[in-house]
Amino acid sequence: RRILQSRMAVRSTGTIVTPILIDLQKSCATPLPVLRHVADAMTDDMRAGLVCDGGSDLKMILSYVNSLPTGNENGLVYALDLGGTNFRVIRVQLGGKDERVVDTEFDQVAIPQELMYRTSEELFDFIASGLAKFAEKESGKFSLSPGRKREIGFTFSFPVKQTSIDSGILIKWTKGFAVSGTPGNCVVACLNEAMERQGLDMRVSALVNDTVATLAGARYWDDDVMVAVILGTGTNACYVERTDVIPKMHGHTSSGNTIINTEWGAFSNGLPLTEFDRDMDAASINPGEQIFEKTISGMYLGEIVRRVLLKMAEVDALFGGFVPEKLSTPFALMTPDVCSMQQDITSDLGVVGSILNNIFEVKSSIRARKTVVEVCDTIVKRGGRLAGAGIVGILQKMEQDSEGLIFGKRTVVAMDGGLYEHYPQYRKYLQDAVTELLGSDISKNVIIDHSKDGSGIGAALLAASNSKYA
Ligand code: BGC
Ligand code: MG
Repeated sequence: RRILQSRMAVRSTGTIVTPILIDLQKSCATPLPVLRHVADAMTDDMRAGLVCDGGSDLKMILSYVNSLPTGNENGLVYALDLGGTNFRVIRVQLGGKDERVVDTEFDQVAIPQELMYRTSEELFDFIASGLAKFAEKESGKFSLSPGRKREIGFTFSFPVKQTSIDSGILIKWTKGFAVSGTPGNCVVACLNEAMERQGLDMRVSALVNDTVATLAGARYWDDDVMVAVILGTGTNACYVERTDVIPKMHGHTSSGNTIINTEWGAFSNGLPLTEFDRDMDAASINPGEQIFEKTISGMYLGEIVRRVLLKMAEVDALFGGFVPEKLSTPFALMTPDVCSMQQDITSDLGVVGSILNNIFEVKSSIRARKTVVEVCDTIVKRGGRLAGAGIVGILQKMEQDSEGLIFGKRTVVAMDGGLYEHYPQYRKYLQDAVTELLGSDISKNVIIDHSKDGSGIGAALLAASNSKYA
């Protein structure tokens, strides 16, 4: 007991300071030089990934989306969105330039946990049956032009090697999915087969990543949108690129633009990582992969915090020498809990106390609660600031190739995902890092803005503009 006490001090804020906390804050620190290094490495990895497939951690996938929505899109279209946590179906009646979105309806279903570990058929049957139920309920407000099939924009939020605008092969699962039989296969073919089993006669006219759908959805309302970023369960970014600076598109050197899906979740260069990150990675279903994602996205922030708290409970007697059993359960602490704890402004941190008690069955002193909040803040701050550095990496790549067309005028980065939407501190840390890196003059031109559910409309718009009947 004496040994323990001699290793601890109490900060003026009331936080118990231990060597573990000091070490953690040191290894998670993101001062400007670290941010700059990450942004520059992101830029370099982007370039390397554009030279050839496999040239870098970043896959820099060609989306085959070569034109963004104009506003003229017309007719009835569906969108299907398979993300990390939910699956959504949307129908949209588009009315062209003047009327824009005439009507829209959607349905959302949580993906049953067990479907994440079963077979491809089971997952796609579940999706197709949800789509069939939704399609049956189409009301008279929606109308399909005679002689057409219902067309779908399929948002599939995993790394897909596109083979055309409406086909692509799943490279690997991410975000905890381990469905057998899908990697290496065309996800549109998987969906088509499942729709056939359901007797559902619809056709996929665009297969897009969620970042690409978000970019399309945001661009529909704002011509200055050039980048889209998802910060949710997982993370990724896409941007508008000039085809003539994409060496791996040999032959397509004519002028024009396309969207590149960076798959930045796989980035790993120069990140400030800790023993907790390394242990979490080693225990994950995809060790060595998606390191940026594991450092900054919603699926993992709570789990990193849990690992730190476990060590503090064991070594620093954070909870008075008691190590609650539940503290050893992987993913017991989720990022929304971390977020709620950080919003607690009561003087005794009662919210923190009850969250710790509900999840881990442990009583905590006010000092312990303060320490817990500081651990949460350390992990969330690192995540938000690194995400900001990643965004600057993309913007500076675009700027280098365009002579002032990015930083010299208004440029919008469309953001979506639950982590970004619901975590005010994360958002602030992200914006701070962008401002520090770009300086206030340039960052005034860079608008980082939430584009809520743009991906649903975005996929529908891309289905309309890539319609087989157009
Ligand atoms: C996937 C990306 C996706 C991102 C956000 C990542 O795990 O690899 O394709 O865009 O999550 O949903
Ligand atoms: Mg999503």
